[in-house]
Amino acid sequence: MNERLNDLRKKIKKVLTKERYEHTLGVMYTAGNLAMAHGEDIDKAMIAGVLHDCAKCYPEDEMLSLCKKHNVFLSEFEINNHSLIHAKLGAALARDIYGIESEEIISAIRKHTTGDKEMNLLDKIIYVADYIEPYRGELPNIDGIRRIAFRDLDRAIFLIIDSSMAHLKERGKVVDPATEEAYEVFRGLINDRNNVRSTKIVV
Ligand code: FE
Ligand code: FE
Repeated sequence: MNERLNDLRKKIKKVLTKERYEHTLGVMYTAGNLAMAHGEDIDKAMIAGVLHDCAKCYPEDEMLSLCKKHNVFLSEFEINNHSLIHAKLGAALARDIYGIESEEIISAIRKHTTGDKEMNLLDKIIYVADYIEPYRGELPNIDGIRRIAFRDLDRAIFLIIDSSMAHLKERGKVVDPATEEAYEVFRGLINDRNNVRSTKIVV
């Protein structure tokens, strides 16, 4: 294994719980596989995967003080929904503590929880890998999404956002505005594609 990746893996193991570390390895390998399938740089995808939850296991008060220390601005929504903070803080820690210079890796970490209306290939790979990695417990529609992810990332993202939003709403939780925006964008994309396809059939 690439030395840099190995080094990051050792560091990350120390700041995560056992379960979170297993999930992290699952995301790392899944991201590598998705990179193979979709033509992204494999090392870059695996590094983003290994770091994506680097801020996840700090106690809440420490997370907030780390945000101050690393100049992470939190929206009102994030202050009230602590589970979202780790993505933004993780992006800052990747840069400041783990020495990541690639803006693409930092962006993929930042967007991995909520998704975003603008996602590049690496953002998409990490977002999807986080959902489909093999250690994930039962999630709605997981088998179908796993199959689709290796052929069609956009459709996989649409399905993930769709089921995550339904899941949140079912439990009476509010959906992050970034997720709502991403949902609209990916729904539009899939609809346009379906329209093109049906036009072709008519022609
Ligand atoms: Fe996460
Ligand atoms: Fe994760």
